[in-house]
Amino acid sequence: IRARMTQIPARGFQLADQQALDRQQKLDRDLRQAIGRNQLRLLFQPQVNLRTRQINGAESLMRWEHPELGLISPAEFIPIAEETGLIVDLGRWILGEACRQAAHWPSPIVVAVNVSPIQFQQTDIVATVEAALHRSGLPPSRLEMEITESQDLVDAGRVRDAMWRLRNLGVRLSIDDFGTGYSSLSYFRDLPFDTVKVDQSFIRDRNSDADRLLLSAILELARKMGKSTIAEGVEDEATAAWLAEAGCTSGQGYHFSRPISDLELTGLLEVERRHQVG
Ligand code: C2E
Ligand code: MG
Ligand code: MG
Ligand code: MG
Repeated sequence: IRARMTQIPARGFQLADQQALDRQQKLDRDLRQAIGRNQLRLLFQPQVNLRTRQINGAESLMRWEHPELGLISPAEFIPIAEETGLIVDLGRWILGEACRQAAHWPSPIVVAVNVSPIQFQQTDIVATVEAALHRSGLPPSRLEMEITESQDLVDAGRVRDAMWRLRNLGVRLSIDDFGTGYSSLSYFRDLPFDTVKVDQSFIRDRNSDADRLLLSAILELARKMGKSTIAEGVEDEATAAWLAEAGCTSGQGYHFSRPISDLELTGLLEVERRHQVG
């Protein structure tokens, strides 16, 4: 947070900056207590096989119900937690909680958990994952870890090591928000992962021939490299159909479902099961 102060431009330190900083500091303080006070929960957004249209997994997404400020987005508080290092404790809690809940889902439904590159650098993430799997009884093959692309992924041998060890445990790995930011193509050569999760910007901007060509090329490259693919931000049937045609394995987005509670998800899975049986 202090580092951000130094980034404030030359026009000077203004009231709006002070207010933003105050809010960040408050969120940082309050987040430390949020777990103990039961303000954090996980929602799950279904991931759907684009051919069969059946749910094959769900991504866990954090929600923070702040007593005064209301619902706070992870897009706001995760970066703060990453900056202060709190993401380590928070991340341990998330992994434990996600595995505990997913252990009740029917096999082979997978839970996809977002992990921050910081968790790879500042803790023994492999030990954390092993503990979460052991305590919950969730088979490793039903845990997928979503790692967002960042410079750290390519630079740090430590991240690559941990990814190999996780893979050897039988955990699945995916690269989140693929195609944004850094030199993603080298990942195919350097990092062990199972799934490419294509960023929503590629899914939504299919307006020009160039956009569509780029998206098809990403999907084809992934397929040829033996990776499965998932599209995030699927908001309509035309998109789902286009993606299925282009060979994308799975989809996730408001067209299928918003993030929902564990209870709602198990309800959906039960309905699917009955349809199959009946
Ligand atoms: P992400 O992992 O890329 O998650 C996708 C985001 O897109 C989620 O936002 C999700 O609710 C939203 N989304 C899903 N379907 C659609 C759609 O059809 N249209 C649109 N416009 N949006 C859709 P959310 O839940 O606000 O999470 C934001 C980000 O916060 C996540 O991006 C992830 O990077 C981070 N995050 C969330 N939970 C965790 C967590 O437990 N740990 C860590 N380290 N990061 C988390
Ligand atoms: Mg994600
Ligand atoms: Mg994503
Ligand atoms: Mg994203």
